[in-house]
Amino acid sequence: MRKYCEECGREVETKVITEKETYDVCGEPIEVDAQILVCAECREQFYCEELDNATLIRAYNEYRIRHKLLLPEEIKKIREQYGLSQRSFGRLLNWGDKTICRYENGSIQDKAHNSLLLFLREPENMRTYLTENEIVLNEKQKAKLLNTVDKLEQDLEYRTGRRLFDMFFSRIPSEENGFKGFDYEKLCAMVLFFANKSTGLLKTKLMKLLNYSDMVFYKENGISISGLRYAHLPYGPVPDNFDMILGRMAADHIAHIDVVYEGAYEKHQVVPECDVPEGVLSDPEQEMLDRIYEKFKSFGSVEISDYSHKEKGYNATKTGQIISYAYAKYIQLN
Ligand SMILES: [Zn+2]
Repeated sequence: MRKYCEECGREVETKVITEKETYDVCGEPIEVDAQILVCAECREQFYCEELDNATLIRAYNEYRIRHKLLLPEEIKKIREQYGLSQRSFGRLLNWGDKTICRYENGSIQDKAHNSLLLFLREPENMRTYLTENEIVLNEKQKAKLLNTVDKLEQDLEYRTGRRLFDMFFSRIPSEENGFKGFDYEKLCAMVLFFANKSTGLLKTKLMKLLNYSDMVFYKENGISISGLRYAHLPYGPVPDNFDMILGRMAADHIAHIDVVYEGAYEKHQVVPECDVPEGVLSDPEQEMLDRIYEKFKSFGSVEISDYSHKEKGYNATKTGQIISYAYAKYIQLN
């Protein structure tokens, strides 16, 4: 940007430099890095509204951080998560009509106001606030707000669950997952295929069917289907953290486990809740599942367990250890 410099007496090139400046915020000196527009030749300072405003905002934010105050955008976010206008949010809090507007636009908020906003950031606190205070909102507005609080709470639970889930199932390909990041969608399709095809499929048999599908597919293609890791347990190779996966499948209405009693025995049956989704599995993956199904269709849970105990990968590992896909090459389906 070229500007006329009084000092140089002509139009000059300008540049932006950074300097320490001290601002007075609520009676407190706050030092910030200020960006200043100067003459590139004599360094005479020019007034620039945008840069000045930016510096002032930085000073205010520095003050807020020092005093643990919410930032204007955070205040706005709290209001918006409840779907409220500035006016109705102000009314709900018994503040003046313009107060929220001023805070969102950068005025430093009162300490007590800040505490209330922080408290109301949590949906469950908003519920408490709504039930324990005399609220200026009418019944319809109040019902709508409570409904939003419900949704936020469920959403929070949902997101926490998903985060935990992602922590357990690596998306980084390695020899432990058959060089494929865990693919929940494909796994659901596999479970639905086996559960829809067989009547009264037991969980123990399903685990073996998944293991053989993944391992043999890996043996022939160098990659697994689901990206599951399999662990050595006393009754054979099983998908790592399988109960957690089944929990999510039940929550997603993909499939769930029914416990049936047969005399003294407890049987865990896999109940599908929908059809196999189309287009999730590739043709070669689908053919593999067909082959595995045909091979083991007459096997009971015990027989297939015994069968899997003979596998080299199982014998070379100890209880709790992950069975590497490297052992897949020894599997023979005769
Ligand atoms: Zn100059």
